[in-house]
Amino acid sequence: MNNWQRVDDEAAMLALGANVAQQFPNGGLITLHGDLGAGKTTLVRGLLRALGHTGNVKSPTYTLVEPYHLAGRDIFHFDLYRLAEPEELEYMGIRDYLRPDALCLVEWPEKAAGVLPEADLRVHLRYCGEAREIFLEEFSRL
Ligand code: ADP
Ligand code: MG
Repeated sequence: MNNWQRVDDEAAMLALGANVAQQFPNGGLITLHGDLGAGKTTLVRGLLRALGHTGNVKSPTYTLVEPYHLAGRDIFHFDLYRLAEPEELEYMGIRDYLRPDALCLVEWPEKAAGVLPEADLRVHLRYCGEAREIFLEEFSRL
């Protein structure tokens, strides 16, 4: 089975982010899996821009989370790369972020193993020469 799709350049990654934004008109949890530089933040940037964000998007490496309020909705962008232990998320009040009406985007979800609930969508990213490849793994909530 090969669910990987080639993403030629940054512009294509931004467009994919916009696409994901359309799939999530309400809340949800999206986790982004892939090595440093695989394009996680770029995809998030595409999503945020599609929802009307005009400023720049930096990964909240030290603050762990960056809040946005776009089109009447709370969106939280997490970068857990520097999370020391999953329990740290409990201390920062992760449950308040994971409300059903909020859209949460999480880079490095592996760092929060056991604390984060199942994602609605897992975005897998990997290098493919100079380009990237993406695999969207969706989980339906029944
Ligand atoms: P991550 O958040 O996974 O560490 P970034 O989103 O910061 O990665 O991307 C790292 C670099 O990869 C950026 O310079 C970005 O422009 C570039 N990039 C993103 N998507 C692609 C792509 N599909 N093809 C080539 N370069 C890309
Ligand atoms: Mg990043």
